[in-house]
Amino acid sequence: MNNEIFETTESAVRSYSRSWPAVFEKASGSKQVSEDGTEYLDFFAGAGALNYGHNHPKLVAAISEYIAGGGPLHSLDMMTPAKREFLTTFRELILEPRNLDYKVMFPGPTGTNTVEAALKLARKVTGRQHVLSFTNAFHGMTLGSLSVTGNSMKRKGAGIPLTNSSKIPYDDYLNGETEDFIWLERVLEDSGSGVDKPAAIIVETIQGEGGLRAARAEWLRGLADLCQRHDILLIVDDVQAGCGRSGSFFSFEEAGITPDIVCVSKSISGSGLPLALTLFKPELDVWEPGEHNGTFRGNNLAFVTATTAFKEFWSDDSFEKGQLAEAIDLTQDKLMKIAAAVDGSSVRGRGLLTGVCFEDPEVAGKVAAEAFQRGLLVETSGPQDEVLKVMPPLTTPLEELQRGLNIITEAVSAVTG
Ligand code: PMP
Repeated sequence: MNNEIFETTESAVRSYSRSWPAVFEKASGSKQVSEDGTEYLDFFAGAGALNYGHNHPKLVAAISEYIAGGGPLHSLDMMTPAKREFLTTFRELILEPRNLDYKVMFPGPTGTNTVEAALKLARKVTGRQHVLSFTNAFHGMTLGSLSVTGNSMKRKGAGIPLTNSSKIPYDDYLNGETEDFIWLERVLEDSGSGVDKPAAIIVETIQGEGGLRAARAEWLRGLADLCQRHDILLIVDDVQAGCGRSGSFFSFEEAGITPDIVCVSKSISGSGLPLALTLFKPELDVWEPGEHNGTFRGNNLAFVTATTAFKEFWSDDSFEKGQLAEAIDLTQDKLMKIAAAVDGSSVRGRGLLTGVCFEDPEVAGKVAAEAFQRGLLVETSGPQDEVLKVMPPLTTPLEELQRGLNIITEAVSAVTG
């Protein structure tokens, strides 16, 4: 097969196609098959957009049925039965059981759109401009979300100064030496400090792109408490860590905090179809009609698969306490063993957003390349790509999970042994 078209026509910006030089033709569950018939286990899961795997049969059936029934596919922000059912199911199965009361906004199709909307809303509500975010944070590629992103290489790509945001140390960044928020509290209380009071603080509970650092529950509670006392809005970016990946539907549940604004995307449709939500406390709904809009806010197929996934996986806690908990235990256990065998390495992350950080940053990339040769898709994360990022679909059968983790063990031995 001649693949020259990709080289000659597609931009040099492409990256995953370079890490995994195969043409993927079929996909189901946690597997993808390339055109030449090679089967790959997929522990990348669409960068977190495929928490229920590829082409889940119930989601595919729901799409087929909807199309056969002649429902509209595209509706901007008009009302449709598919959207009505999505909103109803989201409220009944996801928000109410968690005692959460949020308004739902569809900010545009992707993760960066929900972050942009969250930042705009926080500025509009508070009348302040500055936003604090964290070292190594990743929030998206458009200018607002890039301004709160902590990755220098990605920030440089903006080509203009990224303003109105400062980075502060994430939990664990100072290796336990941080006195939590005492220093921040002090400058906020000191009117002569020259530090602008921020409109919001935006945080990932687990830094998906930034090296899989996971914030401790008590650190998150400290942050939420500080925000509340200083009238600063707390935005949790759950684009990657949400929709079950941390072990619960929202990644902040474990800490018992209630953010003012929550950004959701990636796996919210369940099927890999684009969908993003910005959730916010009802009293923050100060938008004027049409003030934030966009053509692709009403993807009915995404509503249909999201509703089906809520019913299938989140009607009760059996998925969370069963398959998901077992998959997390198995993965964490195996990764601990892998890390124990390599000097200076450690397990990072939480839930199924986890991986191994190597002392020599080149090791993670070499392990990922070895894993590909052995039929496993697994990527790297972190400012120096020093972390092997293990992100299988949450529904991966335990036997396939074991097989993929064994491939990682072999790949690590091949690189470090
Ligand atoms: N926030 C987080 C935490 C993310 O991980 C990502 C994507 N990796 C985004 C925002 C941006 O999402 P998208 O690529 O869909 O714009």
